[in-house]
Amino acid sequence: MLQSPEEHLDEVRTLAHKRDRHQPEYLQAVDEVFDSLLPVLHEHPEYIENRVLERLIEPERQIMFRVPWFDDNNRVHVNRGYRIQFSSSLGPYKGGIRFHPSVNVGIVKFLGFEQIFKNALTMQGIGAGKGGADFDPRGRSNAEVMRFCQSFMTELSRHIGEQTDVPAGDIGVGSREIGYLFGQYRRLANRYESGVLTGKGTGWGGAEVRTQATGYGAVFFAEEMLAKAGYGIHGRTALVSGSGNVAIYAAEKIQHLGGKAITVSDSNGYIVDESGIDIDLLKQVKEVERARLTEYAARKPSARYVEGGSVWDVAGDFAFPCATQNEISEENARTLLKNGVIAVVEGANMPTTPEAFDLFHEAKVLFAPGKAANAGGVATSALEMSQNAARSRWDFDKSESRLHAIMRNVHDKTYEASERYGQPGDYVLGANTASFVMVADAMIAQGVC
Ligand code: GLU
Repeated sequence: MLQSPEEHLDEVRTLAHKRDRHQPEYLQAVDEVFDSLLPVLHEHPEYIENRVLERLIEPERQIMFRVPWFDDNNRVHVNRGYRIQFSSSLGPYKGGIRFHPSVNVGIVKFLGFEQIFKNALTMQGIGAGKGGADFDPRGRSNAEVMRFCQSFMTELSRHIGEQTDVPAGDIGVGSREIGYLFGQYRRLANRYESGVLTGKGTGWGGAEVRTQATGYGAVFFAEEMLAKAGYGIHGRTALVSGSGNVAIYAAEKIQHLGGKAITVSDSNGYIVDESGIDIDLLKQVKEVERARLTEYAARKPSARYVEGGSVWDVAGDFAFPCATQNEISEENARTLLKNGVIAVVEGANMPTTPEAFDLFHEAKVLFAPGKAANAGGVATSALEMSQNAARSRWDFDKSESRLHAIMRNVHDKTYEASERYGQPGDYVLGANTASFVMVADAMIAQGVC
């Protein structure tokens, strides 16, 4: 007799926890998805029969490699590189590469697992993978970053390809790094395979709006979610964390829509600028000078730099966590609620701890999970892949309107699934169920593989 959905979820969850007990972030991501799946399994016993969940929690392939490189003083360093190819039932593996000292196999796996569902929601025919290295680009010269990227790609190049696996950026990997990675790939492959990486420079195969896409997309998603609940962005204040491209372009789009983003942050502290973040100055400091946020405060009289502390201590209508995983703690959530937050929109991947999420959920705060809200980045990567394949090039306006349409669709699919499974407006339930059904159906159609 077939297991009941309850027994099945329990069994596979226990298996994941047993096998990967040293990977807390990965288990957190798995648990969050599993918590939504009961009603789906009740409707689809074939998912149990085909052991879809058990297959899904095991990546199709995991690659771990040595990355040796020379610093500017000719000292040899060795980092650990990863590419985890999680699921290819909907298309080639697709997802970013993260360079950050915190990178380990559990972090890459959590990101790869999230990517499965996020990429499905874009409806762009992309599978899921993620990679990275425990390399810290901070304080490294261009030449050091280039040598590191060349060494990283020397191994990675064996495993990727425009129809196989298409990496892009993530934390610590922006257009500079993608350039160095692409240059090394081209040299090793002896072919100009544009579609092997996304996030390229717009002068050499990159898509317009890719840099802005994750941040803009999160705000487009928020706009839809807020409208459905009777709110707008105009005239409201937003707290944004982080100061990478997700944060910068989320803040920019919030201001385009008449809202006011009043904070950004880095690992040492945060800026509060009640007059609204000056986006041009922020870009100058972060993108051009690669300087710290203290530089922003030094040049903007209305801004205050707060060393240490948390950006979530500031009062605002919306919270856009755009920095990193688990950046909103239970205590941060209490403060945000006390200050009357209306909506939380995840620009980063899994920035809300489970305890914080429970508080938001209880308080019925509008909550947009990252796998839906930040899908605009990878969706625009897929648009880059199609332009590369067709050897065509779209202008900024066309690219932005395609992104906008995709985010509306991600929102609507997510909302509809939340309704279908009995909790209208529960976007976590909606995102997990809508995407899971797409992936599970493809897995079953393609047989046990
Ligand atoms: N790293 C981004 C994400 O978390 C983008 C991935 C991509 O463009 O492939 O979705």
